Amino acid sequence: MSALCRLLLVACFLISASFAFSQNSSLHGIDLGDLDRTAQPCDDFYQFANGTWRANNPIPASMARWSRRWQAGESAKDRLREILEAAAADKNAAKGSTEQIIGDYYGACMDESRVNARGMEPVKPWFAKIDSARDIASLQEVMAELHDILVQVPFGMGSQPDAHKPAWVLADIGASGLSLPDRDYYLKPEARFKEARDKYVAHVAAMLKLAGWDQKSAAAGAQTIMTMETKLAEASLDNVALRDPSATDHNTTFAQLQAMAPHVDWASYFKHKQLPNDVDMNVDQPKFMQEVDRQMQQVSLADWKVYLKWQLLNSVASSLSAPFVEEDFAFNGKYLAGISEMKPRWKRCAESSDQLLGEALGKKYVEKYFPPEAKARMQEMVRNLLAAMRDDILTRPWMSEDTKEKAMAKIATFNPKIGYPDKWKDYSHVEIRRDAFFEDMIAGRKFVESDDRALIGKPVDRGRWGMTPPTSDAYYNPLMNEIVFPAGILQPPAFDLNALDAVNYGAIGVVIGHEISHGFDDQGAQFDFLGRLRNWWTEADLKNFQARGACVADQFDHYFIEKDIHHNGKLVLGESIGDLGGARVAFLAYQKSLEGKPRPADVDGFTPEQQFFIAWGQFRGDEIRPEAARLMVQSDPHPIAKYRVIGPLSNLPEFQKAWSCKADAAMVRAEAKRCEVW
Ligand SMILES: [Zn+2]
Repeated sequence: MSALCRLLLVACFLISASFAFSQNSSLHGIDLGDLDRTAQPCDDFYQFANGTWRANNPIPASMARWSRRWQAGESAKDRLREILEAAAADKNAAKGSTEQIIGDYYGACMDESRVNARGMEPVKPWFAKIDSARDIASLQEVMAELHDILVQVPFGMGSQPDAHKPAWVLADIGASGLSLPDRDYYLKPEARFKEARDKYVAHVAAMLKLAGWDQKSAAAGAQTIMTMETKLAEASLDNVALRDPSATDHNTTFAQLQAMAPHVDWASYFKHKQLPNDVDMNVDQPKFMQEVDRQMQQVSLADWKVYLKWQLLNSVASSLSAPFVEEDFAFNGKYLAGISEMKPRWKRCAESSDQLLGEALGKKYVEKYFPPEAKARMQEMVRNLLAAMRDDILTRPWMSEDTKEKAMAKIATFNPKIGYPDKWKDYSHVEIRRDAFFEDMIAGRKFVESDDRALIGKPVDRGRWGMTPPTSDAYYNPLMNEIVFPAGILQPPAFDLNALDAVNYGAIGVVIGHEISHGFDDQGAQFDFLGRLRNWWTEADLKNFQARGACVADQFDHYFIEKDIHHNGKLVLGESIGDLGGARVAFLAYQKSLEGKPRPADVDGFTPEQQFFIAWGQFRGDEIRPEAARLMVQSDPHPIAKYRVIGPLSNLPEFQKAWSCKADAAMVRAEAKRCEVW
């Protein structure tokens, strides 16, 4: 997910997907029993809004984070299971039908004894291909084939609208090839990163041993891989630099690409990808490509083979037999995220079906679980939020008329997508068999890759979605100026047709506002109304806007998760501007929706305004394992949930007023430190 968000410059809302649905949402949508009434809303609103729920609901062994929302999301996977089991049981499904494809994929995945009996066998033909390479040129041919199955190392190619003419899709060559969460894990001197490196080398060696290496060669292979990846890490941009769209903006010609990395046979690579050499392209990180080139020249063929075998193994481990699945989980789940137990197999198979066959499964999902009324209600809310954002921008005293006019043009071209795509992808030619899970997974990956590659060198297709319909997430794509809300997030506790308006505005309303605000965060604000990476701000306005962003970055720099570990304000800046703008604009939209109507009733003494903020605290707040919190603070552009509640609300005068907080309360930032962007 995060790789996709980074590659496509997509500002996602959440760290990872789950499904938000609650079977027992209350009449009004606020769960009063979740409140910790011993906490004061003006002291710690996160604790007040959901403290009792967290105390009564410890994080399950198979999860890194937990809240009513994550809980609902996990149980909603029962819906996918039901669809998949019904499809798997349908013996009369025609070949190539949706039922056959998702049913056989799930059925083959669930056939654990067959998967276990096959052990390493399905990977062997791929290892043989790698072994057959006689020189670096033929190794690169195998590398291109690995790219076709989404093992896109050490670089990858995908489609992306051209940042300078976004109606046109170019080939984007991105950096990858690292297996630890990001470059800093390879390079930072702190003990925890050093420990992660040691554990990683041991993990690689353990996986190679499972794949048939002896002890000594597995240990040596792991060191080789670590050396190659560390060099690639040194040449990679860090997480903060990657957030700057200009840092990855390099329109490149074929001749320039050849000059950048002369030891890659680009003509053969493009031929393999069925792309002409003169196709428009962008290279995200030229310095990284130079390092790839250096390694092509200087690293031995034998070491390259070890590297590619590891990358393949690492990428497909969860589709192999139990020993591989367990070793993979022990490092990536247990060690890095603190999760002690794997999810049950059916859930992993449902997730895998969604990842590779998402619109086939998603079509079935929305037929059953996404009523047209939900779409209509969301369309109305999005309209109201966009209107509130328009009003908000027009009343910003620090912004000139000229810049406001440009911002209005951008608001006018926002393209909201709700629920599911109008046109579904065609999976009918994807070869899926009941008795060959590994090959099915490969076929699914090939579909994903070729479906994306087919877009390159053509006008942009505005109907395409970057997330599957059952995904409980949302995104803004600055190149398309679109905000996208899959059906999976349009469920309680985010969204509920039966809930009070205060609750819908406080939960999904803030999510909508968050995505709209991404169009005007430190990243999105660099793209104009047509999605072009082009400055549309006056110099003074831009300076003022950047100073306002610096206030938010400084605020989050001071949020510690442990004694010596705090958020990186610049890393979480876009998401935090999104939350701050989202909360404010959703509140304004809610206020506006009340105009001319009788004032809604209090709920258990809580005013409508208080209900709005409780809804955000309950939807957004979750409990997180310390390991997962460390991982997030290091690598994720989203702050941990506690500070997504406390951070934005403590800047809002509307929050202070709603709860009658004193000026020196913890939830009220001092006037001089208060941040305001939108
Ligand atoms: Zn976001």
